[in-house]
Amino acid sequence: MEITNIRTTNVSTDSWGEFVEFPLVTVMSKFDEYNNADGDNPQARRKWMGPVGDVVVEVETNAGIIGVGHGNWATGAISTIIEETLSKLIVGENPLERERLWDMMYRATIPFGRKGAAIEAISAADLALWDIAGKEANKPVYELLGGPTMDEIPAYASNLHPVDHEKLAEEAHQYAEEGFETMKLRFRYGPEAGRKGMEANEAIIETVRNAVGNDIAIAGDAYMGWNVRYAKKMLQRLERYDLEWVEEPVIPDDIDGYAEVREAAPMPISGGEHEFTRWGHKELLEREAVDILQPDVHRCGGMTELLKIDNIASAHDVPVIPHSGTNPHLHFIAASTNSPMAEYFPIPNWYKERQQAAEDRESTYADAIYADPPNAENGTISLPKGPGISAELNREALEHYSID
Ligand SMILES: [Mg+2]
Repeated sequence: MEITNIRTTNVSTDSWGEFVEFPLVTVMSKFDEYNNADGDNPQARRKWMGPVGDVVVEVETNAGIIGVGHGNWATGAISTIIEETLSKLIVGENPLERERLWDMMYRATIPFGRKGAAIEAISAADLALWDIAGKEANKPVYELLGGPTMDEIPAYASNLHPVDHEKLAEEAHQYAEEGFETMKLRFRYGPEAGRKGMEANEAIIETVRNAVGNDIAIAGDAYMGWNVRYAKKMLQRLERYDLEWVEEPVIPDDIDGYAEVREAAPMPISGGEHEFTRWGHKELLEREAVDILQPDVHRCGGMTELLKIDNIASAHDVPVIPHSGTNPHLHFIAASTNSPMAEYFPIPNWYKERQQAAEDRESTYADAIYADPPNAENGTISLPKGPGISAELNREALEHYSID
């Protein structure tokens, strides 16, 4: 089998729906123009992210098999790197020789790569190669990874944007009713909001804890919006809520800061969704920066690299809970003995109701471009079906959201 052609499609951030407009603390919150903590600046994130959200790659072969993958996020540079550099390397090659092709792509992009867009481009291409391998073998990729280690995949509900406390409590209650045993909320404020912001962050946790009781695990995401001093103080305040983890308290390059926060924090610290390759994640592990590692297969180097990262993490006794619950992540979790659950983005009832009321509103969220996105029931997701890894594209949605 030989790779004959590679196609890329830039997908607009519009495919992410309205969720990017809800208030939460982000890595850009320190700048007023990009701060939406109070919900009065809903375009804040769109001002610095996009317009390209994800890049879909389709790898064609002379066997008639087409592999699909996508890389993210928020930069069209991914498609430029695929078209300009990666396609030159892998067209004409055997798509089943993934290790060799990965190493070629990695080495050829070192001058402008190593982290960021180049590795995201490699991630997309690598996922397409795994898709081809699964389709060629007529097996789901988790079978190629050693077979399932579980019957179904436990999922945690990841949403709980702090829009207002009534909605937040209702939403948390909804997820508990739907069978989720773990849920993750978003903090709203960072150092720029001072002590008042700390109080407000604590109130978010309190609302959710009161809504679901003590039997549900609650995690919180700071989306790189804090610094070391703030994180240490904030997390100390939250000790009594018995949090499952707090995610990305500081920027990914501040590994010393991560370790310092982790040392001081009364709850586990997680991170890694903005880290790249086995070398980047090895650094996080060796410097004891995180208790839970959260690589994203669409960014960290694809499945080939995620497996290596998982092996290193397991040697450190650190579980891997990948960022986002896309199909490739489900294959990985299903086959790993070191990955206890998937992230899952449920839709809050209040959001559904509002969408129904406003008929013209786009009704999409993560995975809009795939025909059969993962669906959690009773807090678990079934093992992915069908051969390959990435599921079929929803061509209509892809066309609708594609941008040049
Ligand atoms: Mg996160």
